[in-house]
Amino acid sequence: MTPRHPMHPVMAAAAALLGSAAIAAAPQAPGPAFPTFKTAADLKAACDRGLDTATAALRQLESRPADGGWLAAYDRFNGQLEDLGYPLQFLSAVHPDKPVRDASEACEQRWTEFQSSLGQNEKLFKAARELKPRDAIDRELLKTTLEGFEDAGVALPPAQRERAKALNDRIAALGLEFDRNVRDAAVQVAFTEAELKGVPEAVWKNAKRDPEGRLLLGVDYPTYHPVLQLADSTSARERIWRAKVNEGGEANLKLLAEITRLRKEYASLFGAASWADFVVRRRMAESVPKAQAFLAEVKAAVEERERRELDELRRAKAEHLGQPLDAVRMERWDVPFYTERARKARYSVDQEAFRPYFPPQESLLFCFRLIEKLMGVRYERVPGVTLWHPEAQTWRVLDAKTNKPLATLWLDLYPREGKYNHAAVWSMRSGSTAARRTPQAALVVNFDRQGLTLDELETLLHELGHAVHNNLSATRYGQQAGTSTKRDFVEAPSQMLEDWVYDKQVLKLFGEVCPNCKPVPDKMIEQAKAARDYAKGIQQSRQHLFASYDLALYSGEPRDPMALWAQMEGATPLGHVKGTMFPAGFSHIATNYSAGYYGYLWSLVVAMDMRTAFDGGKRLDPQVGRRYRDKVLGNGSQLPPAALVKEFLGRDFNSKAFFEDLKK
Ligand SMILES: [Zn+2]
Repeated sequence: MTPRHPMHPVMAAAAALLGSAAIAAAPQAPGPAFPTFKTAADLKAACDRGLDTATAALRQLESRPADGGWLAAYDRFNGQLEDLGYPLQFLSAVHPDKPVRDASEACEQRWTEFQSSLGQNEKLFKAARELKPRDAIDRELLKTTLEGFEDAGVALPPAQRERAKALNDRIAALGLEFDRNVRDAAVQVAFTEAELKGVPEAVWKNAKRDPEGRLLLGVDYPTYHPVLQLADSTSARERIWRAKVNEGGEANLKLLAEITRLRKEYASLFGAASWADFVVRRRMAESVPKAQAFLAEVKAAVEERERRELDELRRAKAEHLGQPLDAVRMERWDVPFYTERARKARYSVDQEAFRPYFPPQESLLFCFRLIEKLMGVRYERVPGVTLWHPEAQTWRVLDAKTNKPLATLWLDLYPREGKYNHAAVWSMRSGSTAARRTPQAALVVNFDRQGLTLDELETLLHELGHAVHNNLSATRYGQQAGTSTKRDFVEAPSQMLEDWVYDKQVLKLFGEVCPNCKPVPDKMIEQAKAARDYAKGIQQSRQHLFASYDLALYSGEPRDPMALWAQMEGATPLGHVKGTMFPAGFSHIATNYSAGYYGYLWSLVVAMDMRTAFDGGKRLDPQVGRRYRDKVLGNGSQLPPAALVKEFLGRDFNSKAFFEDLKK
């Protein structure tokens, strides 16, 4: 199937008007244009200039009296830092040229150092301490600002303070190295065509071949998932699984061990028992024991279910291979394959069968349409903008009622060599009503040009949820905008929306953005919905393991990351596979989700509770959507998460919906 790129209705109208007058009326994306760099030297020069400007702005701020305008000036300064630094640092994830990516990473390191010395700036700390907050919003910002300074070590005795800064810089540099090792690993696995039996031809037909004529496949998602889920050959699946799980290599295990030690040392400078204790006390969960107690509850809820599901998959394997049950062992590379088979057999669901219904660009328009309906906005493509890659797109978000441009969204949909290979959103610019600053975000995914599976459509909507959190923020200060919220809450707005792609009524919106697309049959959605709960025990047990491992690694005395992983994974029903090193690719915990992975489960509790407001046929209810936009997204972190949710739901949040869903 050829990928199609029809125009968005709004675009078509603009194109029809094209002429000199129409050019003047062409939509502009709010906020600064995305900077483009042809060479690494260009980027380095821009990085130098940016840091010089930031240093000059800092000197000015330092000499400013701690008066009623200080907090706003400090916020504007932080906004300036975003504009000067963020786009340059983002390019390491997406720029097609390696030298530019490397220059971007070097730039990021310099900005990290600038930021960490800023955290220890005594003049700013002193000014912030003298301030009297005018109202609750000021008070909340002042509180987190002072905590930020304290956590950066400004109040420590000089020697420890210096050590804190050195540790901060070193940990950040090691995290960058960790990610680079994964990104540039360029792992390839060789397969004969016969070994790829079961995998759609579109996945491998354009792959390069080695001298023996075998196909060389990478471990990017659009390749890895279909092979693991669909290859008939056990050994083919095992090889690609092992390649992926070892992607970071021994080097990353060493880096992670060092990062763990340094974080422990950092926390002890502040008298905290561990890095986890140091981090979690600022989060929604408030303390490590509370986070652990929650994880224990999750475990109790899924343990039995996981065993049952694995037994069933093992029976499916025995049947498939025609072997006696006793002779069959379930392996980790079997789970996705037999789960898919069971889903197909039980529910007649084939994720691959969704691709013709969900072409990538139309899928994007569908997700936009959903947000438009629900939250009272409009998306408009902005043509003629030069970005980091010719296929990257610029969109602007407008308020549907007032037509006011609210935000900019950049998109990068398809995989290519050297590109960030997961799905994520970069909040490039935080909005601020006081500074009339419009937000900007970049959404990066890696989709198959043939179309999306329903799972991938869910991923797209999840990521768009993050983008919307940035884009529809309407806080007074940029530092409290959208996604600046607590890490164990930040996933909730995205997780909440995931469920919308399983709603037949919602999927009908596809017809509005693509009249020529064949509508996805209701039956396929019903089946997928029934199949979704299948193997939930296995899935959530894995999430539970990741979260507990992360907390264990960062609690108490530092341990060897690999030994701890082998022990913890070894205690699960599928055990640990010798020779594999999952932690070497676990970027979350090496970088800024350390002691925070539990947040995915924690925020899912909140997400599922918030979702109840849309129950009873209100999935597209603009009133509930608008209330959600105003109370939750719009408020960013002006209020603590629990208070935001209470304003939206009209009551305290609870975990009922989450634990009920685990029983489904
Ligand atoms: Zn997310």
